[in-house]
Amino acid sequence: MSKNIHAVAMRFVDLVLEHEQWSAVNWLHIDDLNIFLEAVTAAGFEARAVRKGNVLGYFRNVNGFKIDESFTLNTTCRFKVVAQNGADHHSATLWLNQTVRNVWAWREENNFSREDIIGMIVGVIEDSVPLRPIRLSNEDDYLREFTRNSGEHLRDFHDIDSLCVGIHMHCGGLLIRLRQSEFHDQIVCKGCYSNIIRFPTEIHSYGELRQYAKEILVPPPNFFARTWKRLQALYNRFW
Ligand SMILES: [Zn+2]
Repeated sequence: MSKNIHAVAMRFVDLVLEHEQWSAVNWLHIDDLNIFLEAVTAAGFEARAVRKGNVLGYFRNVNGFKIDESFTLNTTCRFKVVAQNGADHHSATLWLNQTVRNVWAWREENNFSREDIIGMIVGVIEDSVPLRPIRLSNEDDYLREFTRNSGEHLRDFHDIDSLCVGIHMHCGGLLIRLRQSEFHDQIVCKGCYSNIIRFPTEIHSYGELRQYAKEILVPPPNFFARTWKRLQALYNRFW
């Protein structure tokens, strides 16, 4: 556990314990909003801000289409998380709402101490962080995890055991693992039909795949090289 996450959890728990009735809290100082923001960010959500507001969920009919009837997702904590693109961040808002509720449940129902609750929030934050994307080619193809029904995140020690091994970042297609030859498997994308990487059959875990890819690929371009490449692409487009 990093010292940083402990500090984030401590500020979060202290803020939550300041108010007993969160559903009645209508205003927070910018410093307090930033405490929420740093907690959701530490939990792996890409967020721009936290502000007052409700996020709505919609009921769906049997065909999966939204129907007009809506309901509020954050009934405990009336503050919502705003995504990088300015839209409501549903999953991060739900996480914030549930985590605020958990702090009070642990305090009132289980009588846990402040220190115990901080330790538990550290665990909640660490468990919420998704698998770090794995770079699989010199063209910067990345594997990111798919969301599992259990809500649990993949970790490097997990086996690549299912047919669907992840999502092709940016493309959004499903990545699948196929046998290619006696000694090699490959990962292909069902969305863009790219053959992304071939690797020895004895690779079992995501961590082993990450390590193997790191050994065979050239290092990713640094920030300056990326910026230079983008500028060149822009130049070529307009002149
Ligand atoms: Zn793809």
